[in-house]
Amino acid sequence: MTSPRPKTPDATEKPAQERYFRRGLGLKKEIQPVLESEYGSTVVPLIRERNNELTVGRLHFRLAKSFGFCYGVDRAVEYAYESREKFPDRNIYLLGEIIHNPHVNRRLQEMDIEFLYPTEDGTFDFSVVTEEDVVIIPAFGVTLHDFETLRKLDCILVDTTCGSVLNVWKRVESYAREGFTAIIHGKYWHEETRATSSQVKKYEDGRYLIVLDMDEALIACEYIRGEGDREAFMERFERSRSRGFDPDRDLKRVGVANQTTMLASESLAIAAKLGEAISDRWGAEEVPDRFRSFDTICSATQDRQDAVQEMMVKPPDIMIVIGGYNSSNTTHLAHLCAQHTTSFHIEDASCIDPENGTIAHKRIHTDEVVIEENWLPDDGVEIGLTAGASTPDSKIGETVERVLRSAGYDPAESLGLLGTEPE
Ligand code: SF4
Repeated sequence: MTSPRPKTPDATEKPAQERYFRRGLGLKKEIQPVLESEYGSTVVPLIRERNNELTVGRLHFRLAKSFGFCYGVDRAVEYAYESREKFPDRNIYLLGEIIHNPHVNRRLQEMDIEFLYPTEDGTFDFSVVTEEDVVIIPAFGVTLHDFETLRKLDCILVDTTCGSVLNVWKRVESYAREGFTAIIHGKYWHEETRATSSQVKKYEDGRYLIVLDMDEALIACEYIRGEGDREAFMERFERSRSRGFDPDRDLKRVGVANQTTMLASESLAIAAKLGEAISDRWGAEEVPDRFRSFDTICSATQDRQDAVQEMMVKPPDIMIVIGGYNSSNTTHLAHLCAQHTTSFHIEDASCIDPENGTIAHKRIHTDEVVIEENWLPDDGVEIGLTAGASTPDSKIGETVERVLRSAGYDPAESLGLLGTEPE
């Protein structure tokens, strides 16, 4: 059996505690004003005070009830700033991106925080890290192997792994412990899913299979029913199954979990299909012994998806979804919106160019970024706004300002005229 993740240092172990920070670095008060000035917005509260709606001339904005920075991202960004404040002279390394937001990541680089990127197969090279250095683990977490390596290096660790991600890990670990193969609805290349799937390695016989979507889940269902083609299966899941995975042996008892930021409705549907397949193969009476399922979508992701669904009961003419192009939760919000109305997934407010009247956006369901002209109608228009969990309020406010300028309004004048009292 492989060794379990080293336990979080006990509060009584003073020297160890000073090298492993999981609950902040005690400088929240000091850095809060900085975070507020860099990521806060004066525009967003204006809209919130008006029941999430704002009218300026021919433009009517509707803001989703839940959007932007989630608790996990808030905390991760805060700890990164605290790290720089506490260790002004040390090398600080961040494993990958703290969150999937280009603006926030740029700011951290400007603070001289160096990003270590993994190779394509997810391996980090820690050869530059010494015990004098500080390493920040992002909100997605890191693999069991990387965590153990870092602990051995004895560097100072600032662990911002989100509590919701830790909950999924616990679930996946319990599957492995009880002899179930973890079937994870997620993206095998995503940092969080890599870290989550690695949790099964705490047990010698721990196994996982990652399914990207319903199509892949149905392939697994087919195999569970005894109808699959082994070779095709192995090829399809070459990069998304644990080493030594044997579908004939490892799909007899399965437990379902998911990357926290997937589309909740799809995750639930996938779990239901896998449960049906187990029942078909082994009979309903065997299901309790052969099937486990827990919805591990985090509440922040769920709230943002629910808020968009609520908006789509009466869809706006245009929907703008703000967040990194590689942000899983933002991409899902964009997909949801696109089912109902014209939707633009923009990475940042700067994608809207008021001077040229264009918007740069990632086409839904593709990786293609296109620049579109004449995107804003000339007459009255309702514009919906939402943002992924890694988008700060400042970027939402800037987006509103750029849309106003695109329509020929002066943001300072039009927003200033409204004052701070609700209309
Ligand atoms: S999206 Fe959810 S799991 Fe991810 S950091 Fe935010 S709260 Fe945590």
